[in-house]
Amino acid sequence: MTQAPIIGVLAIQGGVREHLASLQAAGATAVAVNSLNELLAVQGLVIPGGESTVISKLAIDDGLIQPLREARGQGMPMYGSCAGMIMLADRVLDARPDQEFISGLDISVRRNAFGRQVDSFEMDVKVQGIGGTPFPAVFIRAPWVEAVGSEVQVLSTITAGPRTGTIVAVQQGPLLATSFHPELTGDVRIHATFVELVRHYA
Ligand code: GLN
Repeated sequence: MTQAPIIGVLAIQGGVREHLASLQAAGATAVAVNSLNELLAVQGLVIPGGESTVISKLAIDDGLIQPLREARGQGMPMYGSCAGMIMLADRVLDARPDQEFISGLDISVRRNAFGRQVDSFEMDVKVQGIGGTPFPAVFIRAPWVEAVGSEVQVLSTITAGPRTGTIVAVQQGPLLATSFHPELTGDVRIHATFVELVRHYA
């Protein structure tokens, strides 16, 4: 594919504008997605951070949860950041009982895992496949990954402080997820990785 891939950002709630800008800067044609027709028109989809209980509820109300699962099941590349990671996970610890998910990523995540004292923080992390300087990862009431299946590649773990070893970025085939928010940093290397992933699977 030589043309820019068309990548959607699920525009239900959360950091939609920032992801659109980052994708565009990383070489994609980025469009907001909040209807079935818009979903069917994209080659890949970003599920932004925000609040997964709200994204879940509105996706159910808008009739989008099943189409999202089907698109994922048909192999559409998806990248979830923070709440988006929760939406893509097969197992969610501390979920609300009525929450529904897109699922597909063979991981267990814990919502709001880092605890109250460290609601938000920034930390440089190394991300596999991303060269150059460490990535400035911004965590906001972030989930962490507690367990991964055998097909899941761990791309990044925390390497300093009390949370050393905690998994914060993963990939499984066309599915990518980070606990953190690259769209808030101006560093588009994670988005560029996703753009390449979409090119690869398109
Ligand atoms: N804590 C939020 C949730 O459970 C995620 C926070 C975020 O996306 N920044 O959905």
